[in-house]
Amino acid sequence: MYDIIVIGGGPAGLTAAIYGVRANKKVLVLESTACGGQIINTTHIENYPVAPHITGLEFGQTLEKQAEDLGVEIEFDYVLHIDPIEGGFQVTTDDDKYTAKTVIIATGTNPRKLRLENEDRFTGRGVSFCATCDGNFYKGKTVAVVGGGNSAAHEALYLSDIAEKVYLIHRRNELRASDALIDQLRARKNIELVLEANVVELSGADKLERIKLDTDREIELNGLFVSIGRVPSVEPLIDGLELSEDKYVTAGEECITNIPGVFVAGDVRTKELRQLVTATSDGAMAATQAINYLSANK
Ligand code: NAP
Repeated sequence: MYDIIVIGGGPAGLTAAIYGVRANKKVLVLESTACGGQIINTTHIENYPVAPHITGLEFGQTLEKQAEDLGVEIEFDYVLHIDPIEGGFQVTTDDDKYTAKTVIIATGTNPRKLRLENEDRFTGRGVSFCATCDGNFYKGKTVAVVGGGNSAAHEALYLSDIAEKVYLIHRRNELRASDALIDQLRARKNIELVLEANVVELSGADKLERIKLDTDREIELNGLFVSIGRVPSVEPLIDGLELSEDKYVTAGEECITNIPGVFVAGDVRTKELRQLVTATSDGAMAATQAINYLSANK
């Protein structure tokens, strides 16, 4: 039985794991895809102390190696469910079952979808949720970004260096992105702002070829980048875990959930500021609370 199973190998989860092993605990991280979390899709991180020029990928890879070098075990496996058992929890994955005295949920968030018919069918065939991941497929082509926040603005600017034409489609008559980003968008000749419009239809044969807006305008394109915010990854759930109305795991700065022995760290927690620095901070706090719990429940 592990002392701590951390679900999610992003900055919050890996930091929690590092704090756990450094307190001499047996720690397993379960990660469904690749360590590093959302940050690996960021080109440059400029707001994390002492690492002014690091890329997101370098950050994720360095953190993973640091954790492994300190003795953290990492398994790549999708967690289905957590169940209470005598003395702890059983974590069921796609391939296996693991047990631990405590669990730290650090599953982060996923991109919000438009919830349009064909969106899933065209995902990876024209519909994308990450310009830094997929932008390169659209060299010299026509793409659109949906969303009006800072992320959508960044995606449009990034894509305008690759694609021939970029539409930025937003449902309101003004963007909520920062003024500095809006100035940059307006300065790019190949970015067209399409305001007060919602995408209502995706069509094409094998891949996306066209979108329709609720203004009745149709746009022929090769790629659509959806950048309309993120939603918490509510799976894996443990029965009885308290969630906020918008489905984040409810916990204060101490990262303690309503279930004894279950802790939460990072973007999936109810919090004010979802940033790299607050994710790593949560990881340290959740692990410290798990370590305290282990001491008190020997
Ligand atoms: P966000 O600020 O929440 O923006 C999401 C955008 O998507 C909003 O414009 C929203 O429209 C739109 N939207 C939401 N649901 C939609 C739907 N179903 N259909 C169409 N449009 C929809 O999210 P974000 O841009 O991902 O940013 C998240 C946080 O990270 C923000 O606090 C942001 O400032 C921060 N961030 C900062 C930077 C930076 O460089 N400083 C970069 C990236 C992110 P409405 O405007 O109508 O609500």
